[in-house]
Order: sequence, then structure tokens, then C-alpha cells
Amino acid sequence: MVYEQDREASAVLLRLAVQHMSQHAAALTPTCYAVWYEYLAGINPRLTLGMDERLMDGGVLADASIEELYRSYCSEFSLEKQQSIREASQNVLGSIRQQAEAVRAHSHEFGGQLEQSASNMNGQTDAGVLRDIIAQLHGETAAVASSMHDLSHSLERSQEEIDELRCQLDNARAEALLDPLTGVMNRRGFDKRMEEFYGIARQKQLPLSLAVLDIDHFKLVNDSYGHLFGDRVIRGLAQILKANIKGRDTVARLGGEEFGLLLPETETEGALALCEKIRSTMAGSRIRRASNNQEIGGITVSIGVATLMPGEDRNAFFDRADQAMYAAKAAGRNQITVAQI
Ligand code: GH3
Ligand code: MG
Ligand code: MG
Repeated sequence: MVYEQDREASAVLLRLAVQHMSQHAAALTPTCYAVWYEYLAGINPRLTLGMDERLMDGGVLADASIEELYRSYCSEFSLEKQQSIREASQNVLGSIRQQAEAVRAHSHEFGGQLEQSASNMNGQTDAGVLRDIIAQLHGETAAVASSMHDLSHSLERSQEEIDELRCQLDNARAEALLDPLTGVMNRRGFDKRMEEFYGIARQKQLPLSLAVLDIDHFKLVNDSYGHLFGDRVIRGLAQILKANIKGRDTVARLGGEEFGLLLPETETEGALALCEKIRSTMAGSRIRRASNNQEIGGITVSIGVATLMPGEDRNAFFDRADQAMYAAKAAGRNQITVAQI
């Protein structure tokens, strides 16, 4: 994110951010400040949505929430990684520059020697002197050729290093789209995929379905068995989702205990069948507590399914699936509701 607020505007934001940060539980770290700053400046729409959701009904932000908000919506990829890739690129460029400079200096020197030799040869008739001059020229030519050879070698090495850095950069970018707890995509990754699949569905007039899933009474799960067990449940659901999708289907953790499934080229019936399999697998699963090996069953999910309608925009499409999920909750949970058209 490039911050463009002037000194005055940023000072107002600083004051506001400090005020807000002090009312929440999270530590007052630079990460926390970045989240509040971008939120209060209103410059990061997805962060705004994510924050509003968490702040609803007087929600209090703790370290884990701030970290998640930052990873999902603020950081392109980790600052340490950016720094290390930047330093490595600078080293590669620096060494190319040094080598090139050395070769340039050598060529310059060689040019001077050629001129000197030319003037020494001028009018020279002694075969012995001429032979010496030519021998010296020969030696110098070989030295220049060798330094050219070295340069070409080190350019090749630099090229390899640059390829490696590019690969690291690609990995870091991909990582920035992943949720660290479950390894599936995060909200940012989901938004990107949605944009892509929505475009294709529109352009090629193909069906696109979306399911929004939310674990039932998850607060109670946390309260009864602890937060760590809660995390296991979230990972377990992610595994069930991954195991049931195929091809271009995309699963993402949208936040907390909520997941999204994007199903390209899938009509409502197909999406429903898949979601039913996921729902029943989850309901039938038992998840082991790490502390005492006790197996806990009966944890369920509510699912809303929507299929893109002609002329519908992305947000409306998402909202329909989300509303359907809430309808499934209202109807008693552990069930699937298909969004109204
Ligand atoms: P409902 O059936 O209506 O969805 O009820 P619920 O209790 O699941 O819904 P609610 O939104 O009230 O609670 C969600 C809880 O999820 C609150 C929050 O503490 C917890 N939570 C959010 N993120 C995480 C996480 O990463 N790990 C764990 N263990 N809990 C989380
Ligand atoms: Mg829930
Ligand atoms: Mg929820």
C-alpha cells in the first residue's frame, strides 16, 4: 500500500488510530497501527469490510485478529521477505556493475596501449623491436579477451541468481494469498479468484456457483474445548473441503470459522450435491483433542449456495450466498440453503 495522506491528514489519523488501538486488546505494534491507519483512512475497501465484520456488536480486536487482518488485507507479503529479496537483487546488480566497470577500465587501458604501440611502431624498422611490440600487444589482447570471458561467466551466474530471486518472489506472492492456519487461500486469494472466475463466467456464459460455509456454534466449541481445539476444527473443515473439490474449484478461508467455495462451470444441482457431501462428512467427523485424546463429534456447518444470475454483480452474488448461509442458520443449522433468485 502506498500512503498518500499529507502531514496534516496523517496526524489526524494517528490521533484517531491511537484512540481506537487503546480500546482494544491487541498489542500496540506497528502492524496494529497499519491496520487501524488503513481502516480509518478508508483506503483499503476489503480491510474495511473485514474490520466492520469484526467490530460489529462491540467486538474487541486481539492480537490474532490484528495479525489475520494484516496478513489478509494489508501486507502484500512479509516485510522480511521483501527486504531480503530487495537486498539480494541489489547485491546481484552491484556485482554486475562492478564487473562491467572493471572490463570498461581494462578496455580503456588497452585502447591507450594500442595507441602507444602504434606511435612506437611509427617509422620503426628494427625487426626485434617490432617483434617485442607485437608480442606485448598479443599479451594484452589475450588479457582483454580473458576479462571479457570472465564478465560473460559472471553475467550467466547473475542470470541464474535473478531467476532464483524471481522464483522466490513468485512464491512469496503466492504465500501472501494463503491462510497460514489451513494452507487454503485467504480472503485476498478468494477475491482474486472470484474476479477471475466471474470474468470467465460472464464472457463465456458459463455457470458459476458459490458456497459460503460457517461452523455452527463455534464460539461454544471454543468455550468448551479451548481455542487450540477450535483451530483444529477449522483445519479439519479445510481438509474436508480440499478433499472434496477438483480441478479449478477453489476453497478459501474467508475469516474466522467461515469458508468460501468457488465452483466454476457448476450449476446449482452440482454445487448442492457437493455441499451435501461436505455437510454430512463434517457432521459425521470426530476430532481429537490434543490434550487428552478425547474425540469430539457433532460439530456441524451451515451452508449457503448461490449460482450467478445474468447481470448480477460480484458483490450481490456473494451477498446472496452469504444470506443463504444465514437462512440455513436460522432454519436450525447443519443444513444447506439455496439462495433466492
Ligand atoms: P453460529 O452458529 O451462529 O455461526 O455461531 P458461532 O458461535 O459460530 O458464531 P460467532 O460468530 O458468534 O462466533 C464465531 C467465533 O469464532 C468467535 C471467535 O472467537 C471464533 N474464532 C474466530 N476466528 C477463530 C480462529 O482462528 N480460531 C479459533 N479457535 N476461533 C476463532
Ligand atoms: Mg459460526
Ligand atoms: Mg462466523
